[in-house]
Amino acid sequence: FDDRDGFIWFNGTLVPWREAKVHVLTHGLHYGSGVFEGERVYNGKVFKLTEHSERLRYSGQVLGFEVPYSTEELNDATKKVLEANGIVDGYVRPVAWRGSEVMGVAAQQSKINVAIACWVWPSYFSPEAKMKGIRLCMAPWRRPAPDTAPCHAKASGLYMICTLSKHKAEQDGYHDAVMLDYRGRLAEATGANMFLVMNGKIHTPTPDCFLDGITRQTVIGLARRRGLEVIERPIMPAELANAQEVFLTGTAAEITPVGSIADYTFTPGEVTRALIQDYDAETKNA
Ligand code: PMP
Repeated sequence: FDDRDGFIWFNGTLVPWREAKVHVLTHGLHYGSGVFEGERVYNGKVFKLTEHSERLRYSGQVLGFEVPYSTEELNDATKKVLEANGIVDGYVRPVAWRGSEVMGVAAQQSKINVAIACWVWPSYFSPEAKMKGIRLCMAPWRRPAPDTAPCHAKASGLYMICTLSKHKAEQDGYHDAVMLDYRGRLAEATGANMFLVMNGKIHTPTPDCFLDGITRQTVIGLARRRGLEVIERPIMPAELANAQEVFLTGTAAEITPVGSIADYTFTPGEVTRALIQDYDAETKNA
């Protein structure tokens, strides 16, 4: 992914893609002191840009550092790098991390670096093609408790168990995995939140130890606007037996219908289809 044309915004300037490099003694690499974002551009506009820029700054604060750019500066930098690369429909990846000035667990004096990359990523699937539903398994790893990890930050270190779970899922022939939380409740997929439709009502796990995704919040708003009831509550995995439809939400996933989770099967239907249409309209007309 590093050998290509284009530009990456790196600590305030646009640098050629191949030259956006860091030192091997980067603290973020050794100790996981990095935070990042994932954003989507639709028709030349980043969906919920300010919310993402604010979350990057918030995640940094949770990890004990201040991202050295304001929300407005991050927004401007994002627009600049999109323009430099001519991206109209794509993905944006901002990342902030502690640099290589200090080696050791304590690194208060390290420099905070920020980079923003972007690349073309059109929406490949028509709503109808998506309706088949993806196959999920149960993940071998659980979301940690709030006093075990800074679970509300979008922090690089938290993705170790996501990568392990996703690799295991793909190795076993699944698309993704559902992670339970430290109490054994349903939490989320490895990079997306989850929703269950039970008898016309929408249920979603309370995000008390995982990311309350920006897409999740958007979809809850869209569902309520349609007059659908949305219930946030603790959900045990056995309750999957009572769900007719299940879908995932995330910036990259958008709304992805789920066909099965382990031995539980679902038929993506009316509610999922309606919300996909609403989300489509919301992102395209934003
Ligand atoms: N959970 C995890 C672990 C994620 O990586 C993501 C993607 N950022 C989400 C949930 C969904 O968040 P969002 O809707 O803000 O993209």
